[in-house]
Amino acid sequence: MRRRSIVVQVGRVRIGGDHPIAVQSMTNTDTADVAATVEQIVTLAEAGSELVRITVNTEAAARAVPEIVARVRDRGTLVPIIGDFHYNGHLLLSRFRECARALDKYRINPGNVGVGRHQDENFRRMIEIAVEYEKPIRIGVNWGSLDHALLTRLMDENARRPEPQDARAVLREAMIRSALDSAARAEAYGMPHDRIILSVKTSDVLDVIEVNRQLAARCDYPMHIGLTEAGMGLKGIVASATALGVLLYEGIGDTIRVSVTPAPGGDRREEVFIAQQILQALGLRFFMPQISACPGCGRTTSVFFQEMAAEIQTYVQRMMPQWRRCYPGVENLRIAVMGCVVNGPGESKQADIGISLPGTGEEPKAPVFADGQLVAALRGPTLVADFLRILEDYISARFGQSDGELATESPSSA
Ligand code: SF4
Repeated sequence: MRRRSIVVQVGRVRIGGDHPIAVQSMTNTDTADVAATVEQIVTLAEAGSELVRITVNTEAAARAVPEIVARVRDRGTLVPIIGDFHYNGHLLLSRFRECARALDKYRINPGNVGVGRHQDENFRRMIEIAVEYEKPIRIGVNWGSLDHALLTRLMDENARRPEPQDARAVLREAMIRSALDSAARAEAYGMPHDRIILSVKTSDVLDVIEVNRQLAARCDYPMHIGLTEAGMGLKGIVASATALGVLLYEGIGDTIRVSVTPAPGGDRREEVFIAQQILQALGLRFFMPQISACPGCGRTTSVFFQEMAAEIQTYVQRMMPQWRRCYPGVENLRIAVMGCVVNGPGESKQADIGISLPGTGEEPKAPVFADGQLVAALRGPTLVADFLRILEDYISARFGQSDGELATESPSSA
C-alpha cells in the first residue's frame, strides 16, 4: 500500500499524495551550451521524463538558464526544469535572479552548501530566494557528500554509548538527520511545508532501501528515490531496478530517477526508459505496450525468433509517440511474442494479441491470436510485416477514436 505523503507542485507536475509516481532525469550537457542543453531537455521530455534537472554550477550556466527555459517552452515542451546546485548555489541564485525565477525547483545538497557558520548562512540564502520566487525545493542528501560535521558528531555520540551501533547504521542515521534537520531549518526560514521534497541516496542497494524506509517512516514529505552512481550497463540497470523495485513495492517513493552511466556516445534517454520499465513491471504505471517474449530454446529457430522479437519491440517503441496521440490507452496493450507451440498459443491467448513461431519440426505457420481468438496463421518471408499490419489494425480498431487519425507509418518499413 502506498504511503500517503503531502503533495508538492513542481511547475505543472504534482508530486506526492495519490499522484502518479513521476519519472525524472538529468541532462549531461554543459548547461552553458544553450543549444545542446535545450535539445537534450526536449529529447528527455519527449521520451517521457516528467521533470528534467540541469546542473547550475557556474556563472555561465546560471546566465544560460533563462534562455534555456524560454527555448524549451518555445518548442512546446512544458516539462518542469530543475536547477541542481552545489557549493555556490547561494551565490548564483543571488546574482542571477532571472535564473532563480526561470527554474521550477531548486535541488539543494545540504552536505556542500558551505562549512561552519557559512553552511547555515548559505543554506538560508537559498531558501529565502526559493521563498521569494515561490519555488519548491528538494533537499537531496547524498552519502558521497554527507555533512561531515553532522556525521562526526553522530559518530562521537555513538562511540560514547554503552552499546554502540555499527558505523553503517550511524551513517544512515546521519543521512536521515541531515535531510530532516535541513527541512526543519528550511521551514523555520519561511519555506512552506508543502514545497519540500526529500531524497537520501547511496550507491549501495541495501543501504538505499534501508535509509529510505527509515526516512519514509519519519516524515510526510514526498520522496524522490534513486540509487546514486548506479553504474554502467547491466549492473546499473539491475541494481537500480532492485533498489527501486523494493521501495516502490513498499509504497515508498513519489518520484524516481535512474542514475545509470551511459556508454560513450550512448543514449541519455536510457535512464528514462529504465525508470518507466520499473514502474510498469510493478503495475504502478503504464507507458507502452508490454511485450512478453519467451527466452527461446532448442525448440525454435533462435536467430529468426530473436530478430522477430527485436523487430516487434523496436517497432512498438518507434510508433509509441504517434500511437499515444492517436490511440489513448494503447500503453495498456499486452503483446506476446513466442518461440513455439509449447507456451506460445497459451501465452498469446492471455495477451491481447500474440504470435508464436513454428518451432523446429512443427508445421511452418505462425498462429496469431487476438482477444483469445485465432485470427491468422502466418507463413513465409513477410511474416513479421504481416503481423505488424495485424497489430496496427487491432490497435486502430480497439483504441482509435471514432474520427481518430490513423497511423501514417507503414508496418512494412519496420
Ligand atoms: S515457448 Fe517454446 S521456444 Fe519459447 S522457451 Fe518455451 S519451449 Fe522454448
